[in-house]
Amino acid sequence: MKNLEKEIFDQYKKLGRGSWGKDLMLWKTMYNAFLTQNKEEDLTPLTELMLDVLLSIPKARKEGKPIIMYPFNYEPELLFSMNLEPLMQEVMSVGLAPFHLNEPYIDIANKMGYGDNPTLCNAQRPFIGLITQGAAPIPDLLLYLSTPCNSISASYQVIEHLTGLSAFNIDVPYWAYNQENLYYDDKIMDYMVTQTKNLISWLENNTKQKFDEENFQQTMIRTNEARGYVLEFNDLLKSIPCPMPSISGFFGSFFTMVTRGGTTDAVKTTKWFRDTAAENVKNGIGGVPDEKIRIAWPYTHVFFDQDLLPWLEETYNAVVIMDLLGHYKVLPHDTSTIENCYESLAKGTLDASMVGTLRGPIEYYLEYIINYVRDYKIDAVIFPVHYACKHVYPMARVASEAIREETGVPSLIFGCDSYDSREVTSEAIRGQISEFLTQIVL
Ligand code: SF4
Repeated sequence: MKNLEKEIFDQYKKLGRGSWGKDLMLWKTMYNAFLTQNKEEDLTPLTELMLDVLLSIPKARKEGKPIIMYPFNYEPELLFSMNLEPLMQEVMSVGLAPFHLNEPYIDIANKMGYGDNPTLCNAQRPFIGLITQGAAPIPDLLLYLSTPCNSISASYQVIEHLTGLSAFNIDVPYWAYNQENLYYDDKIMDYMVTQTKNLISWLENNTKQKFDEENFQQTMIRTNEARGYVLEFNDLLKSIPCPMPSISGFFGSFFTMVTRGGTTDAVKTTKWFRDTAAENVKNGIGGVPDEKIRIAWPYTHVFFDQDLLPWLEETYNAVVIMDLLGHYKVLPHDTSTIENCYESLAKGTLDASMVGTLRGPIEYYLEYIINYVRDYKIDAVIFPVHYACKHVYPMARVASEAIREETGVPSLIFGCDSYDSREVTSEAIRGQISEFLTQIVL
């Protein structure tokens, strides 16, 4: 694969010029910084997808296409099928975290009296500060879900109030839709499909776009094609050595599907990740040279420290197989009829990364983590528990005990703010991980 070739780089650079509008100045800075950062890197489908995600917002503005903002726990295929532009909010509010550029906006939210770090999540809270400073892209409509936490709902209600925009909330139920599950409830599918149909009416009423069954079906077919590649990718990561480096699942599966699910770009990117992993397995190549430790990271990344996983790879020859978001587990479904497409969309929402494991009884998560440890031949489990995830502290403790009893694999649980470097520092986090790996795992 060649570097970001000069001709393509110049084309992207040209698109980054001119005025994007006052509220897109910081967004434009992110685009140009990402472009420059990747100038010497290989041009992969993921690089193009990420550049296109950033370009899509000024383009939609120019074309008068309605922009719908939503959090990280929803896939945008329905929006694409209606020719609406999705804006995943965390692209900005979390995308700024590795550079600590989110922290001034966290402080603004604090000064406004909107929560504090342990109370409300800094994955969304900087966006509140960004809005008050005129530095956030303002969409046309808001869409959010009740799961995995109350913090998201609370933040979206504040955004709704600050912007005066209309919002739609999807209520995600607790119970299982498959009959073999102990927690099966036969009302789940109807409940989800009814909400989808209400959402479609709301989108039609609030924009000029119309729902088209054929477009919807084609979009769901593409979604399920990409889901198939992701599942094959997940299986390939069971190989020893793991064929991909630590962050691959997060970007190749989760980020791709949550920003571009339903598009040919997502099909191309997930296929590329699947093919790369397959090629490496065939040639016995590991994502981390001389792999010694296989780590399960069944929660979010420490987003403010983008060097943490490379440090683990270099210092301990340790590969983090997948994080909870990157471990995308939505199955491909039957899309042969429109009703099946509605169900596929609903199942995708119920099984989405993090939502699927955190939306009901703790048994959903315990089953997930024990299978993960067994299937991927894990040596150690690391739970970096984000302060605002108050629901996760007891869950991590119970899960750690269950993992030890069922598999004998040790766990490390530590608290931090995954988005704010000032709460628990990188040094403190590395100190705890080092102690755990050297004294317990190795
Ligand atoms: S990190 Fe925790 S608190 Fe933040 S959005 Fe996710 S589940 Fe909610």
